[in-house]
Amino acid sequence: MIYLDYAAHTPVDERVLAVYSETTLKYIGNPNSSHEMGRIARNKLEESTKNIAEMMGVKPSEIIFTSGATESNNLAIKGIAEEYKGTGKHIITTYLEHSSVTGPVTVLQNLGYEVDYVDILENGQVDLEHLKELLREDTILVSICYVDSEVGTCQPIEKIGKLLKDYPACHFHVDATQAIGKVPVNFENVDLLTFSAHKIYGLCGFGVLIKKEEVRLQPQIHGGLSDSPYRSGTPMLSFIVSLEKAIELTLTTCKEHFTYVSSLNTFVRENLTCYKNIIINTPKDGSPYILNMSIPGCKTEDLLVALSNSGVYISTKSACCATNTPSRPVYGITKNRKAALSTLRISFSHKTTMEEVKEFLRIFEACYLQLEI
Ligand code: PMP
Repeated sequence: MIYLDYAAHTPVDERVLAVYSETTLKYIGNPNSSHEMGRIARNKLEESTKNIAEMMGVKPSEIIFTSGATESNNLAIKGIAEEYKGTGKHIITTYLEHSSVTGPVTVLQNLGYEVDYVDILENGQVDLEHLKELLREDTILVSICYVDSEVGTCQPIEKIGKLLKDYPACHFHVDATQAIGKVPVNFENVDLLTFSAHKIYGLCGFGVLIKKEEVRLQPQIHGGLSDSPYRSGTPMLSFIVSLEKAIELTLTTCKEHFTYVSSLNTFVRENLTCYKNIIINTPKDGSPYILNMSIPGCKTEDLLVALSNSGVYISTKSACCATNTPSRPVYGITKNRKAALSTLRISFSHKTTMEEVKEFLRIFEACYLQLEI
């Protein structure tokens, strides 16, 4: 088996899973209960949240735990839109966003919010000049991913954050799901930041929204007491403590893994460039964890199936996208519909070996020739 779909899901790290099991077995109380078992669980919750906050460089009160990046994105976007609708109803985003950003943005558009899409330059980055032109006094939200999940472009988040400082009514939301633990992340001028545990070898079904203290938000899940006033539900202690472990592991190895994965990416990129039909969509300064290509005229779903039958697992687009539709990010960058309809995404991990990528290239060539592309 050659698994090269780590942008869709990473296998849980055994050390993270061990922490999850230990915490579940040890802490039986609800952290909101006032008896001793509850208090013990509450102490652990506070300690773990404090450690996560420290590692992320934020305050514990700025952390909202959610069921994943999809919920975090929904909470950030709908929460800001509802809270600040009296100030304005203008939102700016990009064609690079994950469906969990475009989904709530579209819902808001149908409710009467005005949405603009900032142009993407040929290098895959947002056009800052166009962004400046789009910004208005009533712009309440700009939502831009740190690294997009399909092509792997890295956005100049620091520069965008600085630019938005001139618009005090505007909040800056960044989906960093494909960035945390993978590329250097600076979110000093970011108001809301999303990420997910299952992209960093943590458990699926858990995520985070970091919300800077001064930003207000309308909760989207209402109910009883939790660890945050912005999201109801019994605190998910075992998930929290296991996320702490996942973050610790990923942040301490980020630099070293970046260098290693870059070498794998370069090797595969150089080999695929030899095919005259293949266009590499991921810019050279994109995330090394993602390598996106187009094979215009090819039904890449067929190629994907042929690869899968040979034990190689990659994807055509983000796993959350409908099949047989053009890739929005690839279209956003290339403006080429044929390229957007024929994408393939390979995504690497520090666990990927050079032997695996060599074997991948061998099987890829066989499937490619077999399909007479
Ligand atoms: N944003 C991005 C950039 C993603 O890659 C993903 C997962 N594919 C999500 C959001 C959604 O994450 P989750 O599965 O945790 O809801």
